[in-house]
Amino acid sequence: MITVTLRGRGGQGIKTGAHVIGTAAFLSGFYVQDQPLYGAERRGAPISAYVRISRQVILDRGQIDNPSLVVIGEESLMGMASDNPPHEISESTVILVNSPLSKSDLASRYNIKNSLIVFDLVKLSSGIIEKPHLGIAVAAAACKLLGLNFDFVKESIIKELVNIQVNRDEIARNVDLASKVFDTISPVTITTPREAYRESGILEPKYHEPAISTCAITATGNSMLRDRAQWSNYKPVIDYDKCTKCMVCYVYCPDSAYTIDSEGYPIVDYDACKGCNICKTECPVKIITLVERNKR
Ligand code: SF4
Ligand code: SF4
Repeated sequence: MITVTLRGRGGQGIKTGAHVIGTAAFLSGFYVQDQPLYGAERRGAPISAYVRISRQVILDRGQIDNPSLVVIGEESLMGMASDNPPHEISESTVILVNSPLSKSDLASRYNIKNSLIVFDLVKLSSGIIEKPHLGIAVAAAACKLLGLNFDFVKESIIKELVNIQVNRDEIARNVDLASKVFDTISPVTITTPREAYRESGILEPKYHEPAISTCAITATGNSMLRDRAQWSNYKPVIDYDKCTKCMVCYVYCPDSAYTIDSEGYPIVDYDACKGCNICKTECPVKIITLVERNKR
């Protein structure tokens, strides 16, 4: 069995990407299983999706540890402590990353010893589509690595994008981009990590803590314990010279990230801010800007 883990942010289409890979593999004659894993209200937050591909009926369920291939939608998700399950990877796990950085820069920055494939979606989508669908692009790259035929990848992309009501023109552009990504990726050998393969066919689900397997609220008043700083690459910055202390930002913030200082100015707790942009939108005098977090 070949297993794939995809990492992205809520809203980037990672779930659709997993579907595209699964459907393309199904059309190629494999048994497949694909599923996302995320809790409630996850736009911008790190999420995962999983794909299993096999010549035999798949009895495994749940998240995948030690996958054959890890697909990472953007560099900001690398090396990140996450509230999603960590990906235990083996030496044979192939890592595919969308990043403008070179392969050698990424490998040295994150101390990657595994087989690493890098593609730059912004560069590849130039002249084809202004807002590329990340999930489609990473799926096309992953399908190339998995050795699938592009005809099946194309059919799968069209099925998935029609399902989510993307218009025909956008679908055509995304197919063009997928074709370009597919042609850009050089094949590597994807193997089955020994530990992940249960040839016996006996169902052996791993135990995972309920806290990571469900979106259940298990205690009251604990929202401030959740680190939302990872949910966005951006944070709001206030121009205090122009702030009127109207408190609109304080009132509208859905995550109570604002407090008021002794002079009546709003202060953002960046660990509680999820970068949703609402305060910037609602500020009557438009003096809040979003700036990149952790700009290198
Ligand atoms: S961007 Fe603004 S409104 Fe949104 S969570 Fe952060 S502080 Fe609150
Ligand atoms: S909404 Fe804008 S002007 Fe009003 S307190 Fe917040 S930052 Fe200041």
